[in-house]
Amino acid sequence: MKNILVINAGSSSLKYQLFDMDRRAVRARGQCERIGLDGRIKHTVEGRAPYTADRLLPDHAAAIRAVTEVLTGPETGVMAGMEEIVAVGHRVVHGGEFFSGSVRVTDEVIAALEACVPLAPLHNPPNLVGIRACFEVMPGVPQAAVFDTAFHQTMPPVAYLYAIPYEYYEKYKVRRYGFHGTSHRYVAQRAAEIIKKPFESLRIITCHLGNGSSITAVQNGRSVDTSMGFTPLEGVPMGTRSGTIDPAILGFLGEREERTAAELVTMLNQKSGMLGLSGVSSDFRDLSEAAERGNQRAALALDIFIYTVKKYIGSYAAAMGGVDALVFTAGIGENNAKMREDISSGLSFMGLTIDKAKNEAPGGEGIISADGAPGYILRVPTNEELVIALDTESLVG
Ligand code: ADP
Repeated sequence: MKNILVINAGSSSLKYQLFDMDRRAVRARGQCERIGLDGRIKHTVEGRAPYTADRLLPDHAAAIRAVTEVLTGPETGVMAGMEEIVAVGHRVVHGGEFFSGSVRVTDEVIAALEACVPLAPLHNPPNLVGIRACFEVMPGVPQAAVFDTAFHQTMPPVAYLYAIPYEYYEKYKVRRYGFHGTSHRYVAQRAAEIIKKPFESLRIITCHLGNGSSITAVQNGRSVDTSMGFTPLEGVPMGTRSGTIDPAILGFLGEREERTAAELVTMLNQKSGMLGLSGVSSDFRDLSEAAERGNQRAALALDIFIYTVKKYIGSYAAAMGGVDALVFTAGIGENNAKMREDISSGLSFMGLTIDKAKNEAPGGEGIISADGAPGYILRVPTNEELVIALDTESLVG
């Protein structure tokens, strides 16, 4: 059996999934929480009761050790020993301009990841800590890094450069990078397979709509534009993030409210978006319920989200000279039929017409556009962990 462990390390948490690559199936999954505080591990194996235990986790190496122990333990385990793991794949948020694809982790790769820390100061350090912890606990086991930014490295300069003095791109690499790349790549490829057309010949718009949301234009199998930018703050309004606003608002509010730029960016990341507009919640289910009860601001927040996503779809269709497929994925894109219907409404002029019955039918991936419409609309559940496992498998041979 070929086991690959997928790790997604955050600042105080570490999620894992163990894949059996022969069956492409998850054997066990879980997460370590409160790393550096006290510590807890939650571990699930299909067909067994979930296992939760408080456990001292002073650092990420301790968390990786805890994962290895539950994966091999007499009651919780699914393997005889860690030597059954052939490779580890890591989700890494930022690969900067260094990486346009997944890579096997070497000393040079670690140095490049360190160089990317200023671009993702909250995310890359824990990713690096996770990689180092795995080298410590599982020496000799090959490791791969799979980047959120890599798929978007094919964007042309017209899409990735901001119209600010060019020296800031040269000096600091200030440019659009884009995120959720693993998800956009996976769902775009799946959409091409589902409609049975060559990925390399299609114009696809992928809508990853979750707590964080981004829209990507995928032309001929390559990302050519995406809504998130230098950071995941740009683009459509999200749960708590503002999305794109007039940058002059920062100067205006900074003066009036006597707040620093850093404080204002925190406000834009944590107190804005659906939460800031509605004053109710960042969660779309809560917002829908509030809107149904007559809360006007919750309804307005949802309308602004729908309107903005629609504008991105229109602009990417213009950028690609049309659209063959529109794909919905992530928490909202996969589960919220009303949102898919509202975003798709009025797009028949560009060949996209949703089928109400198909859209509302329960189920996983599939076509939800009307038969005979020139373009396709699809719902495709994302699976970033599987992509990380597959990339890791192909890198380590
Ligand atoms: P994250 O970006 O944190 O991974 P998700 O992709 O899980 O976020 O998306 C979270 C959003 O998806 C929330 O706003 C939530 O309301 C919505 N969502 C998740 N599951 C469902 C569901 N079954 N029905 C409707 N909305 C859902």
